[in-house]
Formats: sequence, structure tokens, C-alpha cells
Amino acid sequence: MSHPLASLITGPVLTPDEEGFADEVAPHNRAVVNSPDVVVGATSTEDVVAAMRWAAEQGVHLTVLATGHGATTPVTSGVLLTTRRLGGVEVDPEARVATIGAGARWTDVIPAADAHGLNPVAGSSANVGVAGYLLGGGIGPFARSHGFSSDRVESFTVVTGTGEVVEASADEHPDLFWGLRGGKVGLGVVTQVRVRLVAIPELYAGSLFFDAEHIETALRGWIAWTATADAQTTTSAAIVTFPDLEVVPPHLRGRTALTLRVARPGDEAAGAAATAPLRALAPTFLDAVGVLPVARAAEIHNEPVHPAPSWTRGIMLSHADDDLATAWLGAVGPGTDQPFVAAELRHVDGATGVDVPGGSAVAGRTAAFVAGVVGLDPAQFDTVLPAAAAAVADAVAPWTAAELNPNFAGRGAAVWDPATADRLQLLRRTYDPDGVLA
Ligand SMILES: Cc1cc2nc3c(=O)[nH]c(=O)nc-3n(C[C@H](O)[C@H](O)[C@H](O)COP(=O)(O)OP(=O)(O)OC[C@H]3O[C@@H](n4cnc5c(N)ncnc54)[C@H](O)[C@@H]3O)c2cc1C
Repeated sequence: MSHPLASLITGPVLTPDEEGFADEVAPHNRAVVNSPDVVVGATSTEDVVAAMRWAAEQGVHLTVLATGHGATTPVTSGVLLTTRRLGGVEVDPEARVATIGAGARWTDVIPAADAHGLNPVAGSSANVGVAGYLLGGGIGPFARSHGFSSDRVESFTVVTGTGEVVEASADEHPDLFWGLRGGKVGLGVVTQVRVRLVAIPELYAGSLFFDAEHIETALRGWIAWTATADAQTTTSAAIVTFPDLEVVPPHLRGRTALTLRVARPGDEAAGAAATAPLRALAPTFLDAVGVLPVARAAEIHNEPVHPAPSWTRGIMLSHADDDLATAWLGAVGPGTDQPFVAAELRHVDGATGVDVPGGSAVAGRTAAFVAGVVGLDPAQFDTVLPAAAAAVADAVAPWTAAELNPNFAGRGAAVWDPATADRLQLLRRTYDPDGVLA
């Protein structure tokens, strides 16, 4: 007998015993195996409304899966709603606004905007889903020059926990609009988002690679340099142990290196001048920083695009100094035998610190750095990585910021400042009174 939702939904409705269920519920992070009672592949706002109302009537939870880049905890009951069929991107070049379906990834938006000489303020990975990313705020390679990506949202179309379709913008439901820009969960299912685009006609960007023997010098020098960084330049420094795998370029395979990522909108001369102190930090074995078309900005970080198991944990730092460098190197530097594939510090502390008119619920505006660790070996997910990440957290405790942005929390919990957290809770009770999305 078919599931009762099947008669209410145009898209696929699958239960665990049905063919296609496993594919429909599989997230990008393959460490998470979802097993909801039923999965609904929404094809329209009406499908989302019907699923939400049904879940509310039945008293079961509804959870959202877009790409599954943010999947950390398996969904083991209720309705899982997948948004991948809610795609579509339309660019209005005059208004410089993209209207983006909830199933779109940045890879869908970037070429559509580029065709008009425009660009979205996206994250380091273009493979991430737009809606999920923006709901957390979004800190990408242009964080210092352009701020949180959600600062450029014009409006969201949302199905609330009661199954109502509302527009959230500065003019309509401004309270919900405030919460959706950074509040991440529990406010509704976004079916469409309108985002202002930017023009970045020239970009100087890429990555400098320092061998293990130069990591300490380069990292200490970079941290000291961040205090003087110009407002246009966004950088991050990751200690990476490249797996000895065919997918990795031969010159990086099995190597531990510091990759210093640089992104500076502007011309080559200004970019080269801004990058000169970084090139002088220590000898590089690879210098891949230069003029880069903005549509290829995802090459700066070169994040993996294929679904695979992963484990991440993030922290935000209020500041960094040479003692932080000592603590970071002691926790994740060469010779520490730590289990992470990558340990990254992203410098923010620029336009990210300036809130939008009317405010937003973004967590982490006062932070100066994002620190994150990534592990890829499933055998280490249960104990080794959590223990190692806890040791890193202890080591950097004196620099840890009070807030933690949800996009970077990984297996940790996001933290908003107390006033924002209280306001978000009230808002969740308003737009999802029965806790369907809780
Ligand atoms: C390789 C990689 C690189 C990343 N780079 C960055 C980066 O540079 N900057 C940054 O800020 N973050 C980054 N992230 C984090 C990423 O932004 C979050 O994990 C984000 O939640 C991913 O959204 P998703 O839709 O792709 O994933 P999903 O796991 O499908 O969604 C995550 C959550 O978002 C919510 N959600 C998604 N879609 C909707 C919707 N339509 N309506 C309501 N809720 C929804 C749900 O709560 C869902 O559980 C990165 C993550 C990875 C794995």
C-alpha cells in the first residue's frame, strides 16, 4: 500500500523498503546514513506545503535535505524532505538580482550570473547548496571584502511550520527575514531566495604552498600579517596532509603542506602588491596565485566535489597572535601526529563585522578567525577525531570567540549571542508553533 503522502505530493514519496529510497536520502557527507520513515522529493512549493501540513497533523518532524554538505546527524524518523528538484536560477542583470530555487547549488548560479558579468558572493565550495549556506550566513573567499553572503539576500519564499507560504524581506515579515539570515534551522522551508549579485571584473587569487619545514615560519608570519591586511584581501591558511591517492595531483600526493589561500578583487598590480608580503614569508614549492576569472573562484580552495564520508568541527576565534600560532602548531602542526586531513584558519574580521540595516541573526560577526578541522577516515569518526578536536579546542580556548557560526560548527553546536539566541527561539515558536521543524 502506498504511503498516505503519495496522494498529496507530485514528486516521489518513498519508504525504506522502496527502490530509490537509499539514493534519495543520501547526503554529500556519506558518514551520515539517513533512515526517515518516509522521504518526500518536493517538486514545487505546493509539495512542501502538503508535506509540512501532513507532518503537523501527524505530529511528526520534518527535516530538510538539500545537498547534504551540512549533514552531521542521521535523520532516523519522520519526514525527510529533499529539495534537489526545486532548482532553477534566473538572473535579472538590470536589477543585479538572482532568483534561485532551493535545490540550486552555487555551481548553478555562478555561470548564470557570469553570463551578465556578475557574480554571487558564494562560499569556498561551489558545490554547496545555496539555501542551506545562506541560512547560516556564509563565509567565503570574499568574506573580508564582501561580508557574510546572507547580507545580500533580498528575500526568501518560505513555507512555515504551519504550512503557510510567506515572503520574508525587509518589507514583509521582517522579523522572519532577520532570523533566516543566519538563524539556520527551525523557521521554515525555503523554496526560493533572491540574492543581490556583485561585479568583480578582476580578481587576483589562488594558493601559495609551503612545505612542512616552512610551515611554522609561514604560519607565524601570516598571523602577524593579518593584523595589517587590507580590507579587500581575504586569506586562509590550512595545514593539509594530502592523501596518497590518484585524485590528488602527483606533486601534492602524501605531502604535508601549508596552503595559504588568497582572494583579492581588483587588478593584478594591486593583487601582486598585497600578496608580496605573503610570498616573502618563506620559500614556496608551488605558487598558484595570479589573475583568476571570478567564475573560477572555487579553485582557490579546491574543495572535494564527490560525496564521501567526512567529519568536521569548527570554532571561531576573537583574535590571533603569536601565542595562538604556538598553540595551533602544537595542536595540529607538523610532527604532532594529529589525525586531521586539514586544519584551517580563515581570516574574517572585515566586512563580516558590519551588520545589514535592520540587523540579522548571523553568528560570528565579532569573530576575527574561523578555525576548522576535517577528518576523512570513518574508523576515526567516533572517538579519535572527537578527542583530537577537543584537544584543539582546549589549546585555543584563550582565543575562542563567544559565538560559533552554524555553517562551521560541524559536529559541534552553533552558538549565537544570548540576545540573538532568545529572539530566534521566540521566532521559531511563532513560525513553527508545533515544533514540526524542531
Ligand atoms: C566542502 C564544504 C565546503 C564548505 N564551505 C563553506 C564556506 O566556504 N562557507 C560557509 O559558510 N560554509 C561552508 N560550508 C558549510 C555549508 O555552508 C553548510 O554545511 C550548509 O548547511 C550546506 O548546505 P547544503 O544545503 O549544501 O547542505 P544540507 O546538508 O542539505 O543542508 C544543511 C541544512 O541546511 C538547512 N537547509 C538546507 N536547505 C534548506 C531549505 N531549502 N529550507 C530550510 N532549510 C534548509 C537544513 O537545516 C539542512 O539540514 C562548507 C561545507 C562543505 C562540506
